[in-house]
Amino acid sequence: MPQIDAASRHRSVLLEESLGFFDFATAEIIVDATLGMGGHSEAMLERSEKVRVIGLDQDAAALDLARQRLSRFGDRFTAIHTNFADIRSALSDLGIGSVNGILADLGISSFQIDSPERGFSFRFDAPLDMRMDPDSGDATAAEFLEELSEEEIANLIYGFGEERASRRIARRIVKRREEGRPVRTTTELAELVASVLGRKHGERIHPATRTFQALRIAVNRETEILAGFIDNTADLLKPGGVVAIITFHSLEDRIVKNEFRRLSGKCSCPPRLPVCQCGAVKKLEILTKKPIEPKPDESDANPRARSAKLRAARKLPLIEAG
Ligand SMILES: [Zn+2]
Repeated sequence: MPQIDAASRHRSVLLEESLGFFDFATAEIIVDATLGMGGHSEAMLERSEKVRVIGLDQDAAALDLARQRLSRFGDRFTAIHTNFADIRSALSDLGIGSVNGILADLGISSFQIDSPERGFSFRFDAPLDMRMDPDSGDATAAEFLEELSEEEIANLIYGFGEERASRRIARRIVKRREEGRPVRTTTELAELVASVLGRKHGERIHPATRTFQALRIAVNRETEILAGFIDNTADLLKPGGVVAIITFHSLEDRIVKNEFRRLSGKCSCPPRLPVCQCGAVKKLEILTKKPIEPKPDESDANPRARSAKLRAARKLPLIEAG
């Protein structure tokens, strides 16, 4: 059973930079869409005596820890057990139509990485699960690898992991399956990928990193969920309200960048289309031309921060002049 002091071991990444986008002098309600251990929520509640923070998390165990950690703030803090994709209904259930700020930190929470039985990491031997919400009834990573075709597995590893050896890895996975010993644990998958790729001298990341990332994204439908979430935030913010999103790999950052562009009215349709079909609408103003990255001292202190990127956008007034 994880203890509460686990929370203090993990520092929130880009904390100051992300909170800097919110106006705590006037903010009434801010949503922490990925509550995790509650680090961002705690900092927000400390920064203003008036602000109310609604924290969302799909992980019941993390939610309990955050509730304990933030109990001293009384009814200024509300924790809801839900995926951030369901932010709209979560707020409407509370009778809230719009908010002043929305923060999402898409880093897989350290809590999950440190719970070996969840099967997220090749550092621990565990069943290959990877579901953020183990109670969801969705397919596990092992089930993906048992049920998808070789080509589907290859496309998944290439598309979500940017792994160039995707076809060779998929072939090996399917070969094992045909031999009646499907890949069922983190160690089996990590060793399989390592045997396909070899390990280059001096390489800092494990060769299976990209394959594990790809599976985690696919299992949790993260790309679809993220695009839908950003679309929702544009509607849920009050004019002048800000959405800030911290990502931890390039695919996620690209989705945030593209969705922000679309919601700032930039059409990405091919030039010859008679009418816009990409859904470009002018709802947001982008506040970060380039993503904000952690300062070197933060990256040194916390290896997890190295790939972090922060982007933010502000809700425009509903009626545009001109
Ligand atoms: Zn368009």
